[in-house]
Amino acid sequence: MASFDQFTAAPLNAAISSQLAGTVHGFMGRGGGASAGAYATFNLARWVGDGAVPVAENWRRWRANYPGLAVANVAQVHGATIHRVGRGWNDGRPEGDGMVTAESGIALGVFTADCVPLLLADRARRVIAALHAGWRGTIAGIAAAGVRAMAELGAKPEAISAAIGPAIGQCCFEVDLELAERFAHEIDGAGAFARPGRPGKAYLDLRGINRMLLERAGLDPEAIDEVGPCTRCANDRYFSRRGAGGVTTGLQMSFIALAT
Ligand SMILES: [Zn+2]
Repeated sequence: MASFDQFTAAPLNAAISSQLAGTVHGFMGRGGGASAGAYATFNLARWVGDGAVPVAENWRRWRANYPGLAVANVAQVHGATIHRVGRGWNDGRPEGDGMVTAESGIALGVFTADCVPLLLADRARRVIAALHAGWRGTIAGIAAAGVRAMAELGAKPEAISAAIGPAIGQCCFEVDLELAERFAHEIDGAGAFARPGRPGKAYLDLRGINRMLLERAGLDPEAIDEVGPCTRCANDRYFSRRGAGGVTTGLQMSFIALAT
């Protein structure tokens, strides 16, 4: 079942999920860092205009809490391309919105500030994935693509557990009615995740749609957890692009690694 605001003693106030117990993972928030202004404080993204010095300090703090992990990132483009990460992965950031690996010691990290971060694991077969699902990526099928990429590495969909991280909630995700209708048209069943808003507007439940898509990809509904609040409602604890008025902000990282 969904469990919101499930904070524990994980380092740097990272939110974690019991569904991913046995992996090293966390949904980082914006607290505990050195960045200022729109990047305050725990921004780990080097490419959003934040200063090199505070970002390096944030990484120092992250690495001190999660020692021994290499970190793999992608240049997120709101698509459904999944990269397979392993030894030999260089530090580049190829375009894509998801990563999978079956190797330990590599943290797969995706960055968000309202979009939906998804962390997945087949813990028995030791295959993991991290996915970035904004509305475009959701329509593009990133959730199913991630499960397929895990299956190619030996995972069984019915054995995959998942955590859906802090993201903009239906309470705050107001979109044009045309977009809500596009979701309903392109994703069977997505119409149930929209409710009317002001004239010409609707509120979409992007986390709910991704949960449905994970179930449709073969995951056990009981193995899907939801972690953390709406990023816009909890803008003091999470970066939220909408909460910042649409300007560039820092980004929070959600990551998962196989324990050695
Ligand atoms: Zn909200």
